[in-house]
Amino acid sequence: MGKQEDFVLRALEERDVRFVRLWFTDVLGHLKSVAVAPAELEGAFDEGIGFDGSAIEGFARVHEADMLAKPDPSTFQILPWRGETPATARMFCDIQLPDGSPSYADPRFVLKRTLAKAAEMGFTFYTHPEVEFFLFKGKPAPGERPVPVDDSGYFDHTAQGGGQDFRREVITMLEAMGISVEYSHHEGGPGQQEIDLRYADALTTADNIMTFRTVVREVALSQGLWASFMPKPFTDHPGSGMHTHMSLFEGDENAFYEAGAEYQLSRTGRSFIAGILQHTSEITAITNQWVNSYKRLIFGGEAPSYVCWGHNNRSALVRVPMYKPHKGGSARIEHRAIDSGCNPYLAFAMVLAAGLKGIEEGYELPPEAEDDVWGLTEAERRALGIAPLPRNLDEAIREMESSELVAETLGEHVYDFFLRNKRAEWHDYRTQVTQFEIDRLVTRV
Ligand code: GLU
Ligand code: MG
Ligand code: MG
Repeated sequence: MGKQEDFVLRALEERDVRFVRLWFTDVLGHLKSVAVAPAELEGAFDEGIGFDGSAIEGFARVHEADMLAKPDPSTFQILPWRGETPATARMFCDIQLPDGSPSYADPRFVLKRTLAKAAEMGFTFYTHPEVEFFLFKGKPAPGERPVPVDDSGYFDHTAQGGGQDFRREVITMLEAMGISVEYSHHEGGPGQQEIDLRYADALTTADNIMTFRTVVREVALSQGLWASFMPKPFTDHPGSGMHTHMSLFEGDENAFYEAGAEYQLSRTGRSFIAGILQHTSEITAITNQWVNSYKRLIFGGEAPSYVCWGHNNRSALVRVPMYKPHKGGSARIEHRAIDSGCNPYLAFAMVLAAGLKGIEEGYELPPEAEDDVWGLTEAERRALGIAPLPRNLDEAIREMESSELVAETLGEHVYDFFLRNKRAEWHDYRTQVTQFEIDRLVTRV
């Protein structure tokens, strides 16, 4: 038993913990949880806790169902919303096969494997997500339109709007769990909120996003509200993106930074962006995984529709933010396509893999898009070599189907499951006759 395991076992006694929830994430990004009694934990650290993998979305075929959840002691935290004594704690788990090898189906492992590849090249990957979501007055019933908690907009300070109290409670809970928050504000849509988590290594950030979603949902419920990370709940309002700021470090040095270079962006940074742009259409099914995700990507409203990069250009897929001299020696890029409904482990793994490919192959960065790319004509965009992002889930699936990079990064099992699952989603969607069609046609044709 290592030091961290000992620390956890001691904390269980000191904090009077009665339940420990073991958390992991299925392939589509849903959090799974099994509660164990503290007495079981020593065994869990040694051997893992067995469960039926075939009952988890995307995990296993029925004939190879046995899997083990092995808690990662560095992720031990008390859950503040479950009360002080007796307390409930959680740990994220790595999933193993019965022979002790890592499970090919575990999204956390997909990210770890990609981070290991970055480490072989000398890099650590840091991310800082800006998570947007909507707050509704209660859980929408099937067939009902969700009702936002307020009518406010970007940065609005809403008197008695409830949003501030909500954000304050979420942030207090996150901080109690060791997750720092950098900014929070009202976003552009009615009832839409944004909370930005502080920079951390990508595995920690992905774990933090899973925790964040849970905390947001718990606080919403406790206030009689409903929170949703659906990418585009309203036709006429912007959707919920999860813009992610990224950088690579070599030891203590930011590998994207080069003093005096254009935008202080190093050759490594430029090739990383070039890799993302080159492989974007292949990885969009992962960063934007729902039929609904593509409604956000055609809306404008600061969500990208085209594959290009720019300095402080909010219509670009990758933005290189203004250099902040007081943060000397630092440089980062902002990926603006990822949405709040993604599986963060898979999305970070794919964007990282694309960027690393750009570095490995020494891709050249195309010229930046200086204009608002939505304002250009189709012909102007073509002349500038600016391609559209996949326009719907079907196009994104087709691009992913022919991608070696995605197959390699996800591994065969996750790749095949994901494609099968998404083809079925697209098929179900395609067969629906919508209210839009009825309104347009039933009295006119
Ligand atoms: N809600 C916008 C999106 O869907 C982003 C707004 C912003 O720039 O923060 O990406
Ligand atoms: Mg925002
Ligand atoms: Mg942003």
